[in-house]
Amino acid sequence: MNKRRSVYPYIALLLAATLMLASCGGEVYRYSRPVMGTVANVTVVAPDRDVALQAAEAAFAEMARIEKLMSPRLEGSDVSRINRGAAAGPVQVSRETCRVLEAAAALAEETGGAFDVTFVPLGRIWDYRRKPFAPPSDALVVRTKMLVDYRKIVLEPRNRTVRFLRDGMEIGLGALAKGYAVGRAVAALRALGIRDCIVEIGGDLQVSGTRLGRPWITGLRHPRNGGILLSIEMQPGMSVVTSGDYERAAVSRGRRYHHIIDPRTGRPTETFESVSVIAGDPMRADAVATALFVLGEGEGMQFLARHRELQVILVDLQGGVRISRSLRDRVTLFENIPVRWI
Ligand code: ADP
Ligand code: MG
Repeated sequence: MNKRRSVYPYIALLLAATLMLASCGGEVYRYSRPVMGTVANVTVVAPDRDVALQAAEAAFAEMARIEKLMSPRLEGSDVSRINRGAAAGPVQVSRETCRVLEAAAALAEETGGAFDVTFVPLGRIWDYRRKPFAPPSDALVVRTKMLVDYRKIVLEPRNRTVRFLRDGMEIGLGALAKGYAVGRAVAALRALGIRDCIVEIGGDLQVSGTRLGRPWITGLRHPRNGGILLSIEMQPGMSVVTSGDYERAAVSRGRRYHHIIDPRTGRPTETFESVSVIAGDPMRADAVATALFVLGEGEGMQFLARHRELQVILVDLQGGVRISRSLRDRVTLFENIPVRWI
């Protein structure tokens, strides 16, 4: 065997890679930090470490800023102030919180209240973190459901005020705040001249540009076996957001209770194992993923038929996988699972 001959392809490859790096003017840097109760990752293509770090700092600062506005746990956040004061009278909030609430109201309207940021009192009685977990009584569910109704939020965008029409109401932006923060962080990076990057918070992400001239590739976890279900070649600017029943859940007597509540039944949904939505706007993808989780198969398909701009990867409770036909060329399956292309 002639060893020397087999080395040339590697040298050529190395040369090509170096040239590509040079032509794209940068290297890939990745940073991680805890934020919004999970971990955020910022990946940037930058000319050097200093530029990369400075950009990533700006992205993390943007996430922290949004967390300060929208976390229900931080004293003084818009959401805390709304929850404490909006039943007594109008509470003024930031322009951004107002815009997020407007988007939430539109989706609540369109889904007939399947998506509803006033779900919080129900979320509390189904708290999957309680140990030992026991489902609440039907009577408590019925009583609590009366506090959940998006139509009882009065939003006045002109004054930027929020008011509740009923005492005891509470909102939570858990279904869209991470998506919103991802989008703002990408915008912050782009404002600093970073064209190629990924911002990811707890698995929800948006990409910008490419990875040294090739599409960014992201993996989706299998909702049950812990492995990777598939990978997606991301088009520049696109976001992918996943809602699953596997991370925040409790099991009691063989049934799974998790963190997405159907306000119409007052109970955690039993629809999908996971729903991933691909869209341009990460907040939209985030909100729609949660909405589809509540809507379930039937209503969910009707919703998607009205929104051809959205692409999805759905895993149902039997493990069946459905993927938008338009993703066919960009998805690589890691497991030998039959897929229905929809
Ligand atoms: P995560 O990525 O944190 O799992 P999701 O995007 O899947 O979040 O949304 C789940 C979160 O949405 C819940 O933790 C809760 O804060 C909120 N939520 C639960 N049910 C609803 C609902 N019916 N409408 C709007 N928000 C909801
Ligand atoms: Mg969501």
